Amino acid sequence: MYPDHGWIMKRAEITPDSTALVDVHTGQRWSYGELAGRTAAYMERFRSAGLRKGERVAVLSHNRIDLFAVLFACAGRGLIYVPMNWRLSESELRYIVGDSGPSILLHDDDHAGRAAGLGVPFGPLDSGQATSANLRSEHVPSRLDDPWMMIYTGGTTGRPKGVVLTFESVNWNAINTIISWNLSGRDCTLNYMPLFHTGGLNALSLPVLMAGGTVVIGRKFDPEEAIRALNDHRTTISLFVPTMHQAMLDTELFWETDFPSVDVFLSGGAPCPSTVYDAYRKKGVRFREGYGMTEAGPNNFIIDADTAMKKRGAVGKSMQFNEVRIVDAQGRLCSSGEVGELQLRGRHLFSHYWNNDEATRDSLRDGWFSTGDLASRDEEGDHFIVGRKKEMIISGGENIYPQEVEQCLISHDGVKEIAVIGTADRKWGERVVAFVVAHPANVPKTEELLSHCARTLGSYKVPKDFFFVEELPKTDIGKIDKKRLSAMAEELKKEEMQNP
Ligand code: ATP
Ligand code: MG
Repeated sequence: MYPDHGWIMKRAEITPDSTALVDVHTGQRWSYGELAGRTAAYMERFRSAGLRKGERVAVLSHNRIDLFAVLFACAGRGLIYVPMNWRLSESELRYIVGDSGPSILLHDDDHAGRAAGLGVPFGPLDSGQATSANLRSEHVPSRLDDPWMMIYTGGTTGRPKGVVLTFESVNWNAINTIISWNLSGRDCTLNYMPLFHTGGLNALSLPVLMAGGTVVIGRKFDPEEAIRALNDHRTTISLFVPTMHQAMLDTELFWETDFPSVDVFLSGGAPCPSTVYDAYRKKGVRFREGYGMTEAGPNNFIIDADTAMKKRGAVGKSMQFNEVRIVDAQGRLCSSGEVGELQLRGRHLFSHYWNNDEATRDSLRDGWFSTGDLASRDEEGDHFIVGRKKEMIISGGENIYPQEVEQCLISHDGVKEIAVIGTADRKWGERVVAFVVAHPANVPKTEELLSHCARTLGSYKVPKDFFFVEELPKTDIGKIDKKRLSAMAEELKKEEMQNP
């Protein structure tokens, strides 16, 4: 019996020779036995450095398989694993270091200089060798409600918040995902999602490892490299954010390639354009959307691929061991078809925001987590994510959901990418504004887009301004950055006023 809840030693006892991790970039391949040995080497390093239970171990590194050994070593020694987003600026990194107070910061070669400038003890990632002495490395006993990791949110709506995930949260998400999505030791996932984000770590990587399958880690997303890796490693289930799907679909290689081992592709992290569904249907590859967030799993829903294709945008029903409900502004349960705030409950939830009791109190009540996202449910109990509460536009007293307007516009042949936001308007309170990336071969005129919208959308939802741009600003994990779009809209309006 191992007295830790990090389970990798146990997993390695059961399937020591199965492949746990593969690094696309270096070609490295670790069996479970090797992963356990490397984990033990890090545990020994942490023990001899005098790190004590509850202290934080930060990492600043591109995706690489070593990070899993650090993560499991933290579990073994009762330390809190804090992966940092390497795309952050110096001052943002300083904020995270100041907030989380790590005792040590481990970095890869690419980040040695940045790590040295952050004012905390630092050292290179080096998993060392698995020695027999290491393998006897002492575990520090933990309780299920002790923290295992702290992951910062995407920072889409404001400063990233440190989300504390306990052993129970992480393991319950993994167990729930294995059962609900039918994962097993035969599964192999390709992961290009950043390992500092819950989508890279908890969506599939840890569940697949818990089940004894293989996790293939990509470093820098390149659509053609990813398409090749999907087949080279005989992957079965992989998750990408919508912009990554789009980038793969835009290559010729995608259309020339068959994916014989692939069971399903998943999309998550942001709303998925209907054009992505169309492309997968045409290709005959199973595809479905998941919804998740750092604070809750991230996984919460299950839908089969046929229903997903029929009900575009549906995320389905809550998984085996969690609950979902939709409430109105007064906290009353919404009936089917009504839009309200999505709340989640289950043992996969985070325990609290680090150093932010107020945010914890505001979002967690009676075990229910208020997601800040709007959703609805159809008669059959399948859920649809409608958008973020903060991004809902109120124009002339009417509620407008940007996602609905975006889905309408993306179905126009001339629109390659789209984002809809609300900007301040003296007359209407807010006005609907669209940013369009046009297909170079088929640039649409504003009038065409207006009449396209008028065919399916109520007049108050039709954008009042269309801004044509070369590309849309994206956040670190590839979500459309609506904060920057708002600032861009302000600038563009000012320019227009100066040069009418
Ligand atoms: P922050 O909380 O710092 O503003 P963030 O919410 O983007 O950043 P994450 O936890 O990475 O941080 O993202 C979770 C959010 O992503 C959800 O709350 C939701 O708004 C959005 N999201 C995730 N999956 C989907 C989906 N399938 N459809 C629409 N939105 C989604
Ligand atoms: Mg959030």
